[in-house]
Amino acid sequence: MSDAPILRLALPSPLRRLFDYLAPAGVPRTALQPGVRLRVPFGRREIIGVLVELAENSEVPKDKLKPALALLDPHPPLPPSLFKLCLWTAQYYQHSLGDTLSWALPVLLRQGEPAEARQERFWHIAPGASPDDPRLARAPRQRQALSTLAQHPHGVAHQLLSQLQLNKDSLDILLDKGLVRVEVRRHAPSERHGPLLAQPELPLNPEQRAAFDAVHASFGRFNALLLAGVTGSGKTEVYLQLIRQALEAGKQALVLIPEINLGPQTLERFSRRFNARIALLHSAVNDRERLDAWLAARDGEADIIIGTRSALFTPMKRPGLIIIDEEHDASYKQQEGLRYHARDLALVRARQENIPILLGSATPSLESLQNAHAGRYGLLRLTQRAGGARQPRFLRLDVKSLPLDSGISMPLQQAITQTLAAGQQVLVFLNRRGFAPTLLCHDCGWISQCPRCDARMTLHQRHNELRCHHCGHSQRQPANCPDCGRVDLRPVGAGTERAEERLAILFPKTPVLRIDRDSTARKDAMDKLFATIQRGEPCILVGTQMLAKGHHFPRVTLVAILDADGGLFSADFRASERMAQLIVQVAGRAGRAEEPGRVIIQTHLADHPLLVQLTEQGYFAFAEQALSERRAAGLPPFAHLALLRAEAHKPGQAEEFLDHACAEAELQLAELGISGVELLGPVPAPMERRAGRYRAQLLLQANARAPLHRLLTPWTQALEQLPGGRAVRWSLDVDPIDL
Ligand code: ADP
Ligand code: ZN
Ligand code: ZN
Repeated sequence: MSDAPILRLALPSPLRRLFDYLAPAGVPRTALQPGVRLRVPFGRREIIGVLVELAENSEVPKDKLKPALALLDPHPPLPPSLFKLCLWTAQYYQHSLGDTLSWALPVLLRQGEPAEARQERFWHIAPGASPDDPRLARAPRQRQALSTLAQHPHGVAHQLLSQLQLNKDSLDILLDKGLVRVEVRRHAPSERHGPLLAQPELPLNPEQRAAFDAVHASFGRFNALLLAGVTGSGKTEVYLQLIRQALEAGKQALVLIPEINLGPQTLERFSRRFNARIALLHSAVNDRERLDAWLAARDGEADIIIGTRSALFTPMKRPGLIIIDEEHDASYKQQEGLRYHARDLALVRARQENIPILLGSATPSLESLQNAHAGRYGLLRLTQRAGGARQPRFLRLDVKSLPLDSGISMPLQQAITQTLAAGQQVLVFLNRRGFAPTLLCHDCGWISQCPRCDARMTLHQRHNELRCHHCGHSQRQPANCPDCGRVDLRPVGAGTERAEERLAILFPKTPVLRIDRDSTARKDAMDKLFATIQRGEPCILVGTQMLAKGHHFPRVTLVAILDADGGLFSADFRASERMAQLIVQVAGRAGRAEEPGRVIIQTHLADHPLLVQLTEQGYFAFAEQALSERRAAGLPPFAHLALLRAEAHKPGQAEEFLDHACAEAELQLAELGISGVELLGPVPAPMERRAGRYRAQLLLQANARAPLHRLLTPWTQALEQLPGGRAVRWSLDVDPIDL
């Protein structure tokens, strides 16, 4: 008799190891396929783990091993290709496999819900039964019920009974008499019907055609293509026509979009074009809907899967094409827990599934452009706006010696006046919420410092509050200075609330609409704002980067960028890239219809070479310049980074932990004979104290990926054992985008 096998499970724990259990009683070995879920005891709780492999031996003595409590799946819920992707992800990002699976699986599956599409009961008339049956002669309600069922040859779903005035009691009696039968089948396994196209396609222009052909020619094999097309150049039309080809070939398409693009505008374009089953996976769908969409995709019952970052992990039965819209967008990188980049993983996935992947953007990331230069991606360009609209003109407005009234200079005020007088709309962009970033006492110099962070609290005048945008701390707006008690408290600088208030005073006859996280917190607020904008009357839109994405404002002909300077002298080497992307994206909202647009950029650094390049020669010239600076400085994409962050309640603790980590890394580099990895730090984080914790970081920089990753695996194992590790919270960020 052979011993019961040992199960090696991935559990939702941060520890980078598997956990051994015995097979649950009475479960045959053949039922224990890798990937199935099991319920197991863990400390005093019960949790759900995923079987990774069977083993004959364990480091734990056999009498100490606990049996798993229950096997939850008859088959692995994840197809092998997705399971492989999760393994790859855990390995690459140095994250525990169990926790990686938790991020990848829908919440309900993590909680033990069956991984099958919902079952539903259907009522049928039994074969040979008839409403004229003599047993029903004196039972008019049963007779009526049976004749209703007789009219539904495919049966009646249980949930529709009351709608058809079918009485459950009557049906139960009919069931006893053998006149009806109940069938349990999958929830609405809808078939697609009607023609695939619900709307005609636009004839592609030559650039679009070339892009379409290049991707289409790659169907059936891995190929990565970068579609660099100015805003309004018809990228989405290219996506739609490629998706049609994929669906016609019997395949599914996965479309990832940034978090903020989930306006109905984007989704409507897909649903208006196709008679197809679309599965949506984004933050606004509830857990049940998410599981249903996930299962539909996995079982091949959804044709198009559209979602944000985590939708990357949606299994597909017949994968055909992956599209990443706005591939430069930072929301593709998860900033907590499993710090994965959905775009980068999508490439891995496309390669595994052997299908093409298309990355689209008006402002491609420097990483993707460099991949195109190096020949790893095909580069497809759309240089013209598709609808015939012209590119906006840029003007750098030097505000060095100009007075700013709530952030608005006189020449800008005049430009707004002209635009409104011409019956057009204005967009004012300011990437700062609230009324003012600081409140200052004019008498003693007190400032609104957050008690928990090395940051200032923002004044939200409308709510009479000071709020910290970093830790969420808030307090009432003081009437007197907390230090000296006097009343001369002044807001310093301007946020969207202040700009809105000032513009409303300067242009009393014009509606001023603010669009930021505060003004659109209510679900319908955004729709209302857009309805007003679409009506086309003169108005001023004031907003944050929410304005920069996805939306079309055809009547906007003036875009004002109140402050471009932050991106030009930040400590983060990516700040200028982000600023350029934001400016171009915001500018792209302007003049999309007949009227040409103009973009006024207020800056104190009007001669800054990157800003000059961007505004005079466009994003690609800027990107080339920025890439050559990155190359010279040995920064990504010409170097590979990993960042170890640590935070602790007491000052010095995080650094101490990182000192140990640094020594450990040096040791391992020497032992393993790895060269080309540099350790920079530890140093305090850019904002050292945040939410009451002191933070520090250690940067690893390498000229190639391989040596870095050779170090990371043994190193992170060792970090789990380091002294002082209990007092700190630490995390490793591979390919960090925020330093
Ligand atoms: P992007 O995704 O690059 O911002 P869109 O696909 O949204 O661009 O296209 C911008 C506008 O141009 C849309 O109104 C779209 O209907 C229109 N358009 C796109 N392609 C064509 C085409 N080939 N012919 C005419 N209009 C087009
Ligand atoms: Zn004071
Ligand atoms: Zn704070």
